Amino acid sequence: MSKHQNIEQTIEQIRSIADIQDVIGRYVQLKKRGKNWFAPCPFHNEKTGSFSISPERQMFKCFGCGVGGSVINFIQKIENIEFVEALKFLSEMYNIEIQWDGKPNISNNLSQQLYDIHEVAWEYYKKSLNESKKIQKYFNKERQLSFDIISDFQLGYAPDNWQGLLNILREKKFSSKAIEESGLIISGDKGYFDRFRNRVMFSLTNERGKICGFAGRAINPNDQAKYMNSPESPIYHKSNFFYGLNKSKNFIPKIDQILVVEGYLDFLQLYQNDIKNVVAVS
Ligand code: ZN
Repeated sequence: MSKHQNIEQTIEQIRSIADIQDVIGRYVQLKKRGKNWFAPCPFHNEKTGSFSISPERQMFKCFGCGVGGSVINFIQKIENIEFVEALKFLSEMYNIEIQWDGKPNISNNLSQQLYDIHEVAWEYYKKSLNESKKIQKYFNKERQLSFDIISDFQLGYAPDNWQGLLNILREKKFSSKAIEESGLIISGDKGYFDRFRNRVMFSLTNERGKICGFAGRAINPNDQAKYMNSPESPIYHKSNFFYGLNKSKNFIPKIDQILVVEGYLDFLQLYQNDIKNVVAVS
């Protein structure tokens, strides 16, 4: 591959490698009818399969809500990202090396900053868990979760501190817009403060294995909300999110049956006991 390629070449290259049916098959279950593949549409609520994919043309189309386009358009829409980010996303998914020729600096964009903020938050929650014998005991003894599960699923602890995470994010010079849009910080009458305080934390991880949100379970029984979740953000969409799918998707095709539970702790206990074709809804 030439060192500098223009964007059209990049698009061509990605479209030739990232097969549309393979990509969409990672999000919805496809059924073959004739030459095309069909599925319930991921973009509108339906039980029938109005959503079709033509492998020949490498295009998708929904006859219910009218959306359609190429594999790149599909990723743009389902991940809610810009065109250039969708190219980057697919190139990562298929290990395609691309050289950008004077194209926008991807790491400066909002989605990337949001992912980075979630990484930083996770480091903070992990460190706080490592420092708290009480919370470790809660996971190990009360909830019977092994250290492996705790580390695999990136569990943590948000300490009882109003500005613990906020201070770290400011120190790292994230933009105010990104900090606000992350949903991890709330803007109130008296300024900014951490959304999650004194809660055990569950990382919400997308299919690429990146943390896109958190759920916090109250420790204090007097806390009004037992569970608190990240709000919708440019990188987290509740309607198409299943907890644990990034791990359990590897087990689902083999068993061809999927168990849906309510609650992250239930999920983790099943998964730990080798029932791995499971996802959780919040
Ligand atoms: Zn549709």
